[in-house]
Amino acid sequence: MMKKIAHMRQTENQGCRGLFLAGEYMRVPSVNGAVVSGIDAAKEAIAYLSENIPKPKAS
Ligand SMILES: Cc1cc2nc3c(=O)[nH]c(=O)nc-3n(C[C@H](O)[C@H](O)[C@H](O)COP(=O)(O)OP(=O)(O)OC[C@H]3O[C@@H](n4cnc5c(N)ncnc54)[C@H](O)[C@@H]3O)c2cc1C
Repeated sequence: MMKKIAHMRQTENQGCRGLFLAGEYMRVPSVNGAVVSGIDAAKEAIAYLSENIPKPKAS
């Protein structure tokens, strides 16, 4: 089961830029797993946004 979850984490949200999945199904199915997956998704979102938000033009 853990192998399947690890595979899903690597493949499931490919091809949809700006989509970050979280929830127990992304980690060990428990409250702890759900929280860790949410923290990881937030980190991925921050990294994505820092690369994809246009920088303001210098005046
Ligand atoms: C009886 C039971 C006992 C448990 N005991 C423990 C325990 O002791 N310790 C432990 O660590 N874990 C326990 N768990 C597991 C734990 O509850 C889950 O792993 C955890 O709640 C998962 O969190 P989650 O946010 O991923 O999903 P969820 O808590 O299931 O949250 C998903 C949310 O999405 C909502 N939703 C679903 N579909 C849609 C939709 N289409 N549109 C909008 N909203 C939607 C749902 O209503 C729900 O509020 C238990 C689970 C059960 C069922």
